Amino acid sequence: MLGSVLGTTKILGVMGFPVSHSLSPVMHNAAIAAMGLDYVYVPLPIPVESLATAIAGLKAVQSIQGFNLTIPHKVEVIPLLDEILPIAKSVGAVNTVKRIGDRWVGTNTDVAGFLEPLKQLKYDWSSMPALILGSGGAAKAVVAACLELGCPMIHVVGRDPKKMKKFHGTMTSQLHDYNLRVHPWASIPHLLEVAGLVINATPIGMANDPHTPISELEMALLPQNAIAYDLIYTPRPTKFLQIAAARGLKAIDGLEMLINQGAIALEFWLDQPVPIEIMRQALIKQLH
Ligand code: NAP
Repeated sequence: MLGSVLGTTKILGVMGFPVSHSLSPVMHNAAIAAMGLDYVYVPLPIPVESLATAIAGLKAVQSIQGFNLTIPHKVEVIPLLDEILPIAKSVGAVNTVKRIGDRWVGTNTDVAGFLEPLKQLKYDWSSMPALILGSGGAAKAVVAACLELGCPMIHVVGRDPKKMKKFHGTMTSQLHDYNLRVHPWASIPHLLEVAGLVINATPIGMANDPHTPISELEMALLPQNAIAYDLIYTPRPTKFLQIAAARGLKAIDGLEMLINQGAIALEFWLDQPVPIEIMRQALIKQLH
């Protein structure tokens, strides 16, 4: 339940199109209520062709303190902002914008959100090559995260050779790192034999899709200390993670990434610690 919206209420929100499925309002409004702040977080459905008008126009609305961006705006927003912080530059995508004075400042909290559950594991990442399935928007943040983690090699597989070549060119130039290789989908079995961290950054297995990007037989190829990480958070667990857990591997779903990217964004806007457990519980309740 939202608190009262007053004449003084400050506004945060999420720009996307469509945006009605977003879980961000639930998570952020739960934190805002628990903190007793005079803020509200609202969905901002903005079609692609209206993004520039919206970004410029919302600057005049003094109560708007910042916003998230989701599909399809994370890349297109970049030239419309006044400043892009280095992490967002290296990913090539912005998911969080803050009003600082009369400037829109963009950053990316997906990278840190993805890393949070891994950082708690205390592995020697320098001995764990990463295998990323998919080369879309989320895969870009995952590549930057694996680089920050210190994975010795980052392999990305995809089904479209032209897109893979473009992905490689863009990411190596943005990250100034050349331990990134792209491969066709058929290379997966060979890559699994050496992978330490396998990340599903495709929608395979989402919602009512019963498929898995990695079969049971393929999962058996992974080293015993490997980690399977699915960015998907509905269902929990996906078939991919069920197979991984049955094989005895550490399995991580996308919920912690979602929670942590949100918590880091809220901290960025408010300049104070935020109640992450309340955000987690609000999301879990909404998903059940
Ligand atoms: P995206 O930009 O649309 O990229 C999807 C990628 O998956 C593309 O590389 C696409 O390949 C590939 N793909 C789709 N269907 C495939 C199939 N049947 N076989 C092989 N590859 C396939 O989406 P995204 O934003 O990166 O999101 C990817 C997933 O991550 C989604 O499930 C999303 O919900 C999840 N996600 C979770 C979080 C979180 O906080 N937990 C955050 C962001 C995203 P093509 O380019 O060849 O089509």
